[in-house]
Amino acid sequence: MDNKIIDGKLISAQILEEVKSEVIGLEKTSGLVPGLTVILVGEDPASKVYVGSKERKAGEVGMRGQTINFSSKSSERDVIEVIETLNEDDSCHGILVQLPLPNHIDENQIISSINPLKDVDGLHPYNMGLLASGSPRFVPATPGGIKEMMIRSDITLKGKHVAVIGRSNIVGRPLSNLLSLKGEGGDATVTICHSQTQNLIEICRSADVIIAAIGTPNYITGDMVSEGIIAIDVGINRVEDSQKRRGYRLVGDIEFDTVVKKAVAITPVPGGVGPMTIAMLLSNTFFAAKLSL
Ligand code: NDP
Repeated sequence: MDNKIIDGKLISAQILEEVKSEVIGLEKTSGLVPGLTVILVGEDPASKVYVGSKERKAGEVGMRGQTINFSSKSSERDVIEVIETLNEDDSCHGILVQLPLPNHIDENQIISSINPLKDVDGLHPYNMGLLASGSPRFVPATPGGIKEMMIRSDITLKGKHVAVIGRSNIVGRPLSNLLSLKGEGGDATVTICHSQTQNLIEICRSADVIIAAIGTPNYITGDMVSEGIIAIDVGINRVEDSQKRRGYRLVGDIEFDTVVKKAVAITPVPGGVGPMTIAMLLSNTFFAAKLSL
């Protein structure tokens, strides 16, 4: 692989190996096997794939992974009742609710019902607050994965201008907090952009690093970035492709073919940020199990 292309699969495999040996060590010293429960509400095909791979990877690193499925007609109360049971269950160290949820369920109510010490997705207001105030405990998995990926690729953000495009609670907002923290992997000057940003192109051209979490295929093009850009693509978008057996292919929010020409480092889609997300989720679950001691 071209050495400017950051290999998220490889880095995540290294992290998973590290987590696996920590899990083995924890079981030896304390008898504890970290347990992760993923909650899926509804039948969204993409969510099913993500949930399946979270449970499978948990098993591969020696954790107890399980998925609880709810039909799309389940009520908010049904889901909260199960979360409350898991909050009290000593064999469950991490609880993750796969997003998005059906419209009749309030995401905030569900996330707030998770015990913050088991909130391995880091989305509980308590954990978000800790991150925003500079003392993170559980960092949301995708932002955590992006930071770790850059550290392990020897990319220093200290003093650099990072444009984060997207302000969602799962990616853009926590990421902007994370990268502006003091210390290793942080110290960046972050601009957070969204659909109401008026001078997006100017901001992108002045950035040393662009992190796109928009959800629009190929939105960031080569003419929007400067020479020497570091481009991190969070987007996972399905675009029709009759050549593919599934009828679609995955592309990011960054137009790879044009941006790669100016980039000193770039993540591909698939195989970039995506695999890092699961690795960091399991790393958080290990941490939650240790905290329970
Ligand atoms: P959301 O839809 O929640 O957020 C998208 C953000 O992009 C919003 O803040 C929105 O602004 C902003 N935006 C939309 N259009 C524009 C525009 N034209 N210019 C600037 N900003 C714009 O998406 P997510 O954060 O959940 O996900 C983003 C992408 O990342 C998706 O493709 C998703 O599939 C992918 N993803 C990948 C993960 C991984 O593991 N690799 C994990 C999570 C997500 P506004 O707030 O104003 O609406």
